[in-house]
Amino acid sequence: MSDLLRTKKRFSAFFGIFFFLILVAAVVILIRLYEVEKPQLSLLNDSSLLGAAANITIGIIDEKSGVQDVQIFIVQGQKRFKVHHREIARQSYLLQAGPGKLEETFSVDIASLSFDDGRADILVTARDFSFWGWMKGNETTSSYPVVLDTKAPKIWVVDSPASLRAGSSGIVVYRVSEPITKHGIEIDGFFHPGFPIQARGEDVYGALIAINYDATSIQKAQIQAHDKAGNAGSVGFGINFRKVAKKTDRINVSESFLKTKMPEFSQYYPEMEEIGSLVDQYLYVNNKVRQMNASTIQGLCLTSAPERLWDGSFKRMRRSSRRAAFADYRSYYYDGKKIDNQTHLGVDLASVRHADVEAANRGVVIAAEYLGIYGQMVIVDHGLGVFSLYSHMSQIIAKAGDQVERGTVLGNTGVSGMAGGDHLHFSVLVNGIFVDPLEWWDKSWLELHILKYLSN
Ligand SMILES: [Zn+2]
Repeated sequence: MSDLLRTKKRFSAFFGIFFFLILVAAVVILIRLYEVEKPQLSLLNDSSLLGAAANITIGIIDEKSGVQDVQIFIVQGQKRFKVHHREIARQSYLLQAGPGKLEETFSVDIASLSFDDGRADILVTARDFSFWGWMKGNETTSSYPVVLDTKAPKIWVVDSPASLRAGSSGIVVYRVSEPITKHGIEIDGFFHPGFPIQARGEDVYGALIAINYDATSIQKAQIQAHDKAGNAGSVGFGINFRKVAKKTDRINVSESFLKTKMPEFSQYYPEMEEIGSLVDQYLYVNNKVRQMNASTIQGLCLTSAPERLWDGSFKRMRRSSRRAAFADYRSYYYDGKKIDNQTHLGVDLASVRHADVEAANRGVVIAAEYLGIYGQMVIVDHGLGVFSLYSHMSQIIAKAGDQVERGTVLGNTGVSGMAGGDHLHFSVLVNGIFVDPLEWWDKSWLELHILKYLSN
């Protein structure tokens, strides 16, 4: 064989393989372009109820060529409205042309469409980027049955307090026209969560409310309720605000108090070491630490047991005398000069040194730890938003999570935190708002203002 012939043969073998490979590649690309796998659809809503303003989430999966086009309609009898359309531009011819997975979330103003409340269907049509079907792509159409509910729940006020003062507690009872999810009372922007009062009927609910110690009026009070489709209803009601005289108290801050107390706080708030004088350290604790502690307590009291664990009056520490009242407006003096003002949000009770501190009512301990100005402190959740707080203790026996009865010993009184002498600082909170414990200690007040509304 001549050299020329050998070269020619090798050359054609090379081209043979080359064209074969091109053919294989072309077939692979064509299979890809003409794939026949249809998009998979799913309705990802929490419920099949659609409210007046509905949020709809549709999931589309097309792993081969990718999603090209999604159209969503709501259909009821002869009525049909397109509520969403999404078209995607081709990203590639060789690789995936569109997203393999897509979640379309959109809101629909159902109330503006002329549907009737009741059965309807969400109709979804999706196409992929395949060349199959004369370049039209693979198409899937699915229909999901839903129920349209565009009516807000109707709410009726059953009982509400005629008047309240700052620091006072109360209850509002209401009836609703249909099953509800989130509901409660909003007073001047603060939300008090509600609970069912089954003893008074399947459609009866209530919420404990409280007015903050520094309120000077009650501008707006309303009951709010959301139904299962998310429709919100509300109704306003009036409460007269009763003014009470401010009580004042004078506290002298002594040098020896500062010398013994400031090192205690520095252990927990090391940033205090940057502050020069003991008086400035004191002002830091009495203001900054006080605020931080208040927000910690409010956070702890945001969620309460959904059922009432307490019953009857709250227990006041036995054989104790009152040293300071709720909402006393305190002026602090150092070296004869006024250095600060704060409001006292509990009642101070003094007995013997290291006296037993008992749970005021049945509940669950949710905190048993050191907290700034409160020192060694215990908080008990009594359910339905009611909490009691015990502070300045020398020793804590209770642990977070403990179930306690009225009278269970939680620890002993002491001087921890911002306390000059051995005493118990006792507070009651309703939905995180400090209220006057006098009401909760008073059996007849509780019966008249709260308990009678919880039973038939
Ligand atoms: Zn106190």
